[in-house]
Amino acid sequence: EKLKVVVEKEKVSAETRIVLRNVGVINPKNIEEYIARDGYFALHKVLTQMKPHEVIEVVKASGLRGRGGAGFPTGLKWEFTAKAKADQKYVICNADEGEPGTFKDRLIMEGDPHSVIEAMVICGYAVGATKGYIYIRGEYYGSVENIQKAIQDAYEYGFLGKNILGTDFSFDLTVRLGAGAYVCGEETALLESIEGKAGRPRLKPPYPPTHGLFGKPTVINNVETFANIPMIILNGPDWFKSFGTPNSPGTKVYSLVGNVVRRGIVEVPMGTTVRDLIYRFGGGLVGGKELYMVQTGGTAGTFIGVDKLDVPLDYDSFAKYGVSIGSGVILAMSEDVCPVDVALNTMQFFEHESCGKCTPCREGTRLAVQILERMSKGQGKKEDLETLKEIAKVTQEASLCGLGQSINVPLLSILQNFESDFLAHIGAKSCPRGVCEFVTPQ
Ligand code: NAD
Repeated sequence: EKLKVVVEKEKVSAETRIVLRNVGVINPKNIEEYIARDGYFALHKVLTQMKPHEVIEVVKASGLRGRGGAGFPTGLKWEFTAKAKADQKYVICNADEGEPGTFKDRLIMEGDPHSVIEAMVICGYAVGATKGYIYIRGEYYGSVENIQKAIQDAYEYGFLGKNILGTDFSFDLTVRLGAGAYVCGEETALLESIEGKAGRPRLKPPYPPTHGLFGKPTVINNVETFANIPMIILNGPDWFKSFGTPNSPGTKVYSLVGNVVRRGIVEVPMGTTVRDLIYRFGGGLVGGKELYMVQTGGTAGTFIGVDKLDVPLDYDSFAKYGVSIGSGVILAMSEDVCPVDVALNTMQFFEHESCGKCTPCREGTRLAVQILERMSKGQGKKEDLETLKEIAKVTQEASLCGLGQSINVPLLSILQNFESDFLAHIGAKSCPRGVCEFVTPQ
């Protein structure tokens, strides 16, 4: 029933599905249905016809970049781990999808769990790792159930465990569950969590590809990144590069949320515009309302106005146009949504999820919430905007991990692109969107 949502016929015809090729098509609990759609053929090819370094060459040549949000070249990451000397190496799938509005990894794990498992074994072979973990967000009950069933079946069919497919390569895979902390999706906090410690980030560098789980070389990739791997191995890098843009090949899975008519998941080539995502795939806005603001890339992403709707989204769009792709959220907001209220909500999220280890993030988010709370009650001061910009700068430069470092993106973009709304709250003491209720100070 749930999967029906993503396979509405009209969407399927317009999408380009690599990652979601099996989602809604196969029974995810039946390994034979996966095998019938070329499942584990890539693993067979790799183990019987390719040397580990050749696998890495293919992934590098494909241009695949990390789909967790940062877009780091996947083949390069694998190469760092392959070249590191160690008695033990690990492969980890980061399935602690915590970015508000993002639910693409959940759909992949629920709908096609074997694609992730197959990719992890391939990665293990390529980098010389014999042990893997899938760290799944604890609230993702369906994902946990389907991944666990898939792991059990993969062991039974000889795709996991000792001497995989009769070769001398062995690989074990275990599930670990998150417990509701957003920061545990940050890869080094995730490592701490698997090690049994409190999920707090480590200082980077060194990076996990060389210094990861228990200090050993560790590849950590996102669910969507892994789900691309079997098709790249089977069809080759040139096939993969025929989708998307030169610097960001392939497709991207987006979560369409907010005031769009059709909320859900879509997979489209990299370079698809925000306008296409909202109007062609999302069906426009509920009630035919006017679009006022979009947040792209997740809570840590950018707030843009309608002037940026034709920006083609890929890993260059932030540097070129100030529009981030991040984890692939497109949050569409209509004319009756207030940017001050949204900024407050966003900062409250970061304040709540800050692990408290470093001062800039812990105190910066707290201060930003205090200011925005005042502003939303009509008690903002002229200097507040400068203070918010200063908070954005300091948290970016001085925070320990990606959580604090990324606060500046939503904060600065909403202040810059919707300045008139903030000024109206401070100067005219009015909310142009009619959302904020002003309170006279006692
Ligand atoms: P990052 O740029 O620090 O690192 C990206 C990846 O590349 C990491 O795996 C890192 O280990 C690796 N890397 C970077 N430089 C390296 C080097 N010199 N040598 C070896 N490896 C290197 O980014 P990050 O802090 O890991 O992630 C930030 C992103 O996470 C943001 O873009 C945000 O959109 C995204 N995010 C996603 C979610 C989600 O639920 N999917 C939630 C929050 C944030």
